[in-house]
Amino acid sequence: MSNRGKRYLMKKTYRGIRQNISTKKLLKDELWMDSLSEGGDPLWAMAYPARYAVGMANLGFQYICTYLKELGVAVERFFDDIEGDRSLEEGRPVGNFPIITFSVVYEPDVKKMLNMLNRWGVSPLWKDRAEKREPIIGVGGSLSVINPLIFSHIADFVVLGDGEEVIPYLVKTVRGFSETGDRNEFWEFIAEHPSIFVPPLHLDMLRRGETLERKKSFCLDLSKAKGHALWVSPHTVFPDTLLIETQRGCFRGCPYCTIPSCFGRPRFRQLKEVIDDIRKASKLGIRRLGVIAPESGDYPWIKEVLKEIRDARLEVSFASLRIDNISDLLLETLVEGGQRQITIAPETGDQYFRVCCGKNFTNEHILDTLQKAQKIGLRKVKMYFMLGLPNEEDKHILETAKLIMEVKKNTGMNVVASVGLFIPKPQTPWANMGFSHSTYKNKVSLLKSAIAGLKGSEIRVQSAREAKEEYRITWANADDTLDYFYSDVAPNRNKTVEQLKNLGF
Ligand code: SF4
Repeated sequence: MSNRGKRYLMKKTYRGIRQNISTKKLLKDELWMDSLSEGGDPLWAMAYPARYAVGMANLGFQYICTYLKELGVAVERFFDDIEGDRSLEEGRPVGNFPIITFSVVYEPDVKKMLNMLNRWGVSPLWKDRAEKREPIIGVGGSLSVINPLIFSHIADFVVLGDGEEVIPYLVKTVRGFSETGDRNEFWEFIAEHPSIFVPPLHLDMLRRGETLERKKSFCLDLSKAKGHALWVSPHTVFPDTLLIETQRGCFRGCPYCTIPSCFGRPRFRQLKEVIDDIRKASKLGIRRLGVIAPESGDYPWIKEVLKEIRDARLEVSFASLRIDNISDLLLETLVEGGQRQITIAPETGDQYFRVCCGKNFTNEHILDTLQKAQKIGLRKVKMYFMLGLPNEEDKHILETAKLIMEVKKNTGMNVVASVGLFIPKPQTPWANMGFSHSTYKNKVSLLKSAIAGLKGSEIRVQSAREAKEEYRITWANADDTLDYFYSDVAPNRNKTVEQLKNLGF
């Protein structure tokens, strides 16, 4: 599933989570998977620019907290819905922290990050923070690997890739800064790591068209990764669920997707490590697992994992499932664990278009699989579709409507069609494709009218405004100052491509 799909999954799932829970209760209800120290040095603010429920469902965010704790850092968490400027753990004001790092996964989170800084009274620009001696700000997360230029005027540094390879160096350098307080020296030291982009030193070079030879950092041996979340909480979008990673990277070539082009070659965790995590969860009384992978069914030992989950009688959900990877065993494991819903991403109802999108499965295959799913007990299917694909015509949209109707007719399941606009992303094979924002509303109307009156179905649509904002943010470059994020200026995609190339991507 694409990032777009996952984001919408999160958004929809978040509804209904209780709000106004005290920070004391949030902490009390967290189950620790490993006993790690809560104190340490230096003080380090780890921020997620969204609600607690969403941030804590992000395995990358949890990993960084874990690695920092393992290195003896006093890391404390900040979320968008924690009131004021105080940390979750100790209620410490953010201004007390010499360093704040943000995990930024999706484009809209950039504005949330800026809002949080504004609310905290911390200057959003590295230049201003240097003058006022405010905290250092670092950024990591998926978006910094897709387009780190977005943070050119905001961050003191941007981590380009997997944290596992960079964090020890980062911690050493931040400890040095805590002692000297010399920001210029900190920038110089941190820039010595090839997988860190340091805007205070690199921005002018990029603007002058100079090359930087930064390179992404990939953790190629996943036995170095933690593998599972540090905390399990009832207050996240995946309540009481242990998140377990099985894979990074993807060997499929869906040309719109950022995973194959931005996140390194496919690599898998060892089966034994995954099985150990499942057994650990079971021993601790955790009843739900969330399997995190770009495409869960591609894991070479998925059968063994499913068998272990069934034997342990655990409920399981997958971050993504391709229809051509859904086996009978997988469906049975879902149902036995108590799942009643399945999520797939056909992208379009037109088979030719689907093949162009890298998804070589037919509508018959979709219908057969969903019929099987319905027979063994699944009651609801969520389907992700894109409109505005390259060379799309009305007939293709009508094929999507037809597929939705056939799924309803042949399975009787409740059908939720989640529709988004195709947004070309940097570094992907379809980076140069058009963005047809102006025709999106008409396309949505055509789809909606074609399935109007279909009982037991629902259509959820990404707004044109959201899609346009995502498109503009994803293509920001080093020449775009802060005003760009609040304006309506069209992105200069050629400039972004050129600067990313000069950066070393
Ligand atoms: S390339 Fe892989 S992760 Fe991306 S959409 Fe295709 S199958 Fe999913």
